[in-house]
Amino acid sequence: MLSMALTKAGAGLVEARESEVPVAGAGEVLVRVHACGVCRTDLHVVDGELPDVEVPRVPGHEIVGTVEQAGESVTGFQIGDRVGIPWLGYTDGTCEYCRSGRENLCRRARFTGYQIDGGYAEYAVADARYVFKLPDAYSDVEAAPLLCAGLIGYRAYRMAGDGRRVGIYGFGAAAHIIAQVARHDGREVYAFTSPGDVAAQQFARSLGAAWAGSSAERPPELLDAAIIFAPVGPLVPQALRQTAPGGVVVCAGIHMSDIPSFPYRDLWEERTVRSVANLTRRDAQEFLVLAPSVPVTTHVRSYELARANDALSDLRHGRLEGAAVLVPPQTPSR
Ligand SMILES: [Zn+2]
Ligand SMILES: [Zn+2]
Repeated sequence: MLSMALTKAGAGLVEARESEVPVAGAGEVLVRVHACGVCRTDLHVVDGELPDVEVPRVPGHEIVGTVEQAGESVTGFQIGDRVGIPWLGYTDGTCEYCRSGRENLCRRARFTGYQIDGGYAEYAVADARYVFKLPDAYSDVEAAPLLCAGLIGYRAYRMAGDGRRVGIYGFGAAAHIIAQVARHDGREVYAFTSPGDVAAQQFARSLGAAWAGSSAERPPELLDAAIIFAPVGPLVPQALRQTAPGGVVVCAGIHMSDIPSFPYRDLWEERTVRSVANLTRRDAQEFLVLAPSVPVTTHVRSYELARANDALSDLRHGRLEGAAVLVPPQTPSR
C-alpha cells in the first residue's frame, strides 16, 4: 500500500512509501482510508516540534474509512461500516486520570499519527475502542475535519465557559467549525487573524462572526473568553488584554512558541489562562451528535494522497480556507 510517511526526524515533509497492508490484531480494525484531514499537529510532527517521534511514521489523525477487517475481540463494528479514527488512539484505562474521566491526560496514552501510524495512507489499523461511527449527513471528505478540528475545537470551546463574547485567534480548520457551534449557541464570535489576512477575516464574517480583524486590533467590546488555535505564544498576553474580568484564555494547540512575559495586571481580576490537551471518547460521542444538529458545515480542499506535502505547505503558509483533506487513490495498491 501507498503511504506518505515521515522518514527522517524533523524533515518537515513526508515521503511516499510502499509497504504491506497491515493486519488487524485481536482488538483492532483494519480501515480502508477514504479521506484523512491535515491538522496543524501533523506539521508539528513532521517538523520535529513534538518530542520522540519515531520514524518511519505515517501522520494523520482525522481518518475516515470503511472497516475491511475486524479482529476477533472487536464488538460494535462490522465489515463495511464507515468509521472515523481520531487523535486519541490508546489509553491504559487504569491510571488516576483514566479513572476520573480524564483519559485525555492518561500517562500511557498513545496518539494516532504520532505514536501509532495514521491516515496518510491507503489503510490504517486502529484499536476499535477508539473508533467512532460517523454521522451520515457528511461525505467522507466533509467528515474528516470533524475528527480533530471539530473534536478538540469542541473541547476547547467547552473549556471557554458560557460567556457571550468568544474570541477566536487563528481562523483555520478548528475555528471555522467552532464559530458555527458558537453562533448556534447564540454567542458572538470575534475572529482574529494574522495582520492583513483579509481573506480569513472575510471567511469568518461569512460564518457569522460579529467582528473580524487582525490579532493586533482591539475588538469593539472586551471578550468573555478567547480560544487560541494559532501556535503563536505572543497571542496569549494579547488575548488576555482583550479579555474582560473573569474571562478565560484557552490555548488549544499541542505546541506553541514561547509566551512572552506580561504584567500581572493583565491577569488580575480573575482572568484565567489554560491549555486543552487531546480529547476523551466522550468529547467525540458528544460532538459527533452535535455537529449534524447545528448543522456544522465543513469547508474542505481535497488533495490526492501523493500530494500530502502540498497540503502541508498550504497549511503552513496559511493558504487554506477551512481544512485540507487527503484522498487516497480509489483503487488501492495492495
Ligand atoms: Zn490512563
Ligand atoms: Zn489534530
